[in-house]
Amino acid sequence: MPGKGNIAIDGPAGAGKSTVAKLVAEKLGYIYIDTGAMYRAITWKALVNKISVEDEIRMARLAQNTVIDFYVDIQTKKQLIFCDGQDVTEEIRSPEVSKLVSHVAKIPGVRLVLLKQQQLLATKNNVVMDGRDIGSNVLPNAPFKFFLTASVEERARRRFLELSNKGYKISQADVVTEIIERDKIDQERSVAPLVKTSDAIEIDTSFLKPVEVVNKIISIINRISESKTN
Ligand code: C5P
Repeated sequence: MPGKGNIAIDGPAGAGKSTVAKLVAEKLGYIYIDTGAMYRAITWKALVNKISVEDEIRMARLAQNTVIDFYVDIQTKKQLIFCDGQDVTEEIRSPEVSKLVSHVAKIPGVRLVLLKQQQLLATKNNVVMDGRDIGSNVLPNAPFKFFLTASVEERARRRFLELSNKGYKISQADVVTEIIERDKIDQERSVAPLVKTSDAIEIDTSFLKPVEVVNKIISIINRISESKTN
C-alpha cells in the first residue's frame, strides 16, 4: 500500500465515483473528500438565500463567506456535510440543487475559492478526492489518477434508484435529461472542465459492482507503487 500519495478520481455524473472513492479511502485509511458536495453546498446556500446563480459576483462572495466541513458519523460510517455549521447532507442531493449545481460550478470565482480549500485539505491528509477536475486541476501531481465512466443509461439508472429510495418523485427520463445537461455544462465550461487527463486510468463501471471497481483500483495502485520502488 502506498505510504503517501493522493488519489484523484474524476468522471461524469453517476459513474460511481463517490461510492468507490469512499470504499478505497476506507481500505487505505485515507480521508475521502467529495468535492461535488462542496459545489452542491454553495448551490444549496444560494437557493436558501434566494441569490441568483447568474450573479457571478454575489456567488463568488457567497463562496468566500461559506464554511464547509466534512465529518464521518462513526456509527453509520456515513459522510456528513456541514454548511456554516448546519448539516446539509440530505438537502444538497435534492433535484433542485442537482439542476443548478453545474451553473454554479462554472463560475470562476466560486471555483477559485473551492480549489484552494480542496488543495489545503490534500496537503494536510492523504486523500481520495473525487470530482471533475481533480486530476487536471486540483491535484495535477497526484501519483494515482482514475477516470470512471459508464453508459448514460446505467448512470441514469443509478441516480434514479438513489433518488427514488430517498422518496423523491422523479421520472427516469428526467434523470437522463439532467445528467446529459450537467455533463455538457461540465465538459464545455471555460474553467477546469471535465476532462480525462492523459495520465489517468479509465475504468468503465457499467458492468462492474462497486467492490470490483475498488479491487481494480487498489491493484493498480499496488502495481504503480511497486514499479516505483523497483
Ligand atoms: O459529484 P456531483 O455529481 O455531486 O457534483 C455536482 C456538480 O458539481 C457537478 O455536476 C459539477 O458541475 C460540479 N463539480 C465540479 N468540479 C468538481 C466536482 C463537482 O465542477 N471537482
